[in-house]
Amino acid sequence: MTTLDNIPEPTVYDLSSPGRSGVTLPKPDVPIQELPENILRDDLDLPELTQLDVIRHFQSLSQLNHSIDSGFYPLGSCTMKYNPRVNEDAARLIGFLHSHPLQDVNTVQGNLALMYELQEWLKEIGGFAAVTLQPAAGAHGELTGIMMMRNYHLARGDKSRLKILIPDSAHGTNPASTTMSGLEVIELPSDDRGNVDVDALRSYCGEDIVGLMITNPNTLGLFEEHIEEVVQIVRDCGGLIYGDGANMNALTGIVRPGDLGFDVMHYNLHKTFSTPHGGGGPGSGPVGVSERLVDFLPTPIVTIVEKGNDQDPPLYGFATPKHTIGRMKAFNGQFGVLVRAYTYIRVHGAAGLRSNSEHAVLNANYLLSKVQDVYHVPYKRACLHEFVVEGRWHDAPDIHALDISKRLMDFGFHPPTNYFPLIVHEALMIEPTETESRETLDKFADALLQIANEARDEPELLLTAPHITPSARMDEIQAARQLVLCCRPSYLLDPQYVKK
Ligand SMILES: *Cc1c(COP(=O)(O)O)cnc(C)c1O
Repeated sequence: MTTLDNIPEPTVYDLSSPGRSGVTLPKPDVPIQELPENILRDDLDLPELTQLDVIRHFQSLSQLNHSIDSGFYPLGSCTMKYNPRVNEDAARLIGFLHSHPLQDVNTVQGNLALMYELQEWLKEIGGFAAVTLQPAAGAHGELTGIMMMRNYHLARGDKSRLKILIPDSAHGTNPASTTMSGLEVIELPSDDRGNVDVDALRSYCGEDIVGLMITNPNTLGLFEEHIEEVVQIVRDCGGLIYGDGANMNALTGIVRPGDLGFDVMHYNLHKTFSTPHGGGGPGSGPVGVSERLVDFLPTPIVTIVEKGNDQDPPLYGFATPKHTIGRMKAFNGQFGVLVRAYTYIRVHGAAGLRSNSEHAVLNANYLLSKVQDVYHVPYKRACLHEFVVEGRWHDAPDIHALDISKRLMDFGFHPPTNYFPLIVHEALMIEPTETESRETLDKFADALLQIANEARDEPELLLTAPHITPSARMDEIQAARQLVLCCRPSYLLDPQYVKK
């Protein structure tokens, strides 16, 4: 096995050569102005390159990263499914692309119609009475939902409720958004089948809880077996149910969380409803609510102001809910992501969405069945859209989940989610999604099985992986603490450098 040295990618500054240029500026169509001396600089340090240099540089940078378009990306809880290009075409339609949120509503009726219909479809998919499209991400939707829950209690004059119950398997954003909203998190243990421990839930439920925040299927990829009982227990003590619907990839078209008794839920359009994500966005986290929370939705909500008839389409506009929690975002949400989700839903239709969920579940169970004799499965049950195994063996004491993940990169795969959920030791959380073929799943399973053998026979291979990627194994701490995201001349990165 050959090991590539870490060869740092040259920056555009390293490639620069004085006098080269690839820019052709148009002739100015306004009078040329003298600029004040004090804002003119001649030491701008701009790199000087030809167009070809620049194109090659960025083209080669773009190939250093793994992406869903370059390979399998089974990152659990993230739903890295293929994003059909028709969504992108729709989001780039000139009418959508060039519209501005400050335009008069009469000039953006098409945008509002799309938002209104998307609200209606998400209501139908989730089983809710109303939906806001405002939140910019899942975590933002959580904050929105929790604020509505709290305000619901306050509006009834009930000020004593300050706690939210959250299972120990929850995504980190759940306790984070609860804490941000000023409420206290009570952690619920899981039972030995990976469900919420119902007895513990009962003991924590009281007149001081705002409600329960639950993920179903949970982050182990398991359907909550006592969900109706869980909902009833929380209801009986006056609490509301928040459903974390970031991952609707197993339920869409099959189960409606509103029908299970959930009062509020966010959808991650950038996961289930397909938008390129990872690397920080953009996202969109609409929130659906049951009848009792409709009046608390953020303002504004897209609505029909004047019904249409045979000749005229309806007139769309904005409304402010009676007890609104206020605005959660400037303007009206991540419109480009809304267009992609609208297109995705429209292209697939009801039957297509259901079939996607079925195939997501089938793919995950197929993969699970291929690896479960070799990788320990902490909760042995049929999974939904994802599953969790342990990345450790007693007879390979030096190997950790991280080593397995790094070695998978040598096979051209993106690693699964590592060390989450926290209740599983050395967790590897695998979500294949419905868009992968059986051949890809087979290759991935073969890689996992081969790595399990290597862990015993050649552990060094895992401990030094990856070997074929542009960068070798990172120092994870340094990589997080000293992120170098800016492209600067290398002398500026030199700690000895003193500005003239
Ligand atoms: C991704 C995810 C979130 C958070 O969504 P963001 O858009 O990243 O803020 C919350 N809960 C679960 C279960 C998730 O998978």
